[in-house]
Amino acid sequence: MKVMNKENIELLGDCHVGTNTDTPLRADAFDKSDDEKISNIQGYFEKIMYELGLDLTDDSLSGTPYRVAKMYVKELFYGLDPKNKPKLSIFDNKYGYKKMLVEQNITLDSACEHHFLPITGYAHIGYIPKDKVVGLSKINRLVDYYSHRPQVQERLCLQILGDLKEALNTEDVIIMINAKHLCVSSRGIKDKNSYTTTIEYSGAFENIDIRNEFFECLKNKIAE
Ligand SMILES: [Zn+2]
Repeated sequence: MKVMNKENIELLGDCHVGTNTDTPLRADAFDKSDDEKISNIQGYFEKIMYELGLDLTDDSLSGTPYRVAKMYVKELFYGLDPKNKPKLSIFDNKYGYKKMLVEQNITLDSACEHHFLPITGYAHIGYIPKDKVVGLSKINRLVDYYSHRPQVQERLCLQILGDLKEALNTEDVIIMINAKHLCVSSRGIKDKNSYTTTIEYSGAFENIDIRNEFFECLKNKIAE
């Protein structure tokens, strides 16, 4: 396994260049069961807490290593495991709807892979159906799945876009993500107000007018 030394990590800082849309996973990533992983991570986290000087016999702290381990495997990073990938129910476009469909304000909870700190925000997705349409909530589920991995926002955008293009058998898909990164707001520069927007699209959305129709849509609000 290639491990970077401390100097190189510091030098690279937050300038990380991704080369592939796939999350970098080892070939043996899922050889162990979830329970095995939870038990191992529990042990590792216990060591981290111990090194920080915490008293693990304290009532309030004793359950933390297990809670963190279970949270990593079953909740925050459940989206690493392809067996958890939602089935995208695809239907024939029987009604012949051929205009833009926008699913907006999809809640997004992720974690940055450089600091393991939360990324929170919204995803907005638009597509123009050809012969297939997707069950609406499946778009939300797909966002949820890819978000629940250690991520970088750019890759998250591309992974969701790629799956939708494939499932819907069209290039006419767009995605925008606005998100706050805790590693920017609570450490380092500690900027509480900035957030990050990433936009990816293909097909008809290469056309600025079509893209603008999508952005116009995002201004719509439903009365509450
Ligand atoms: Zn980060």
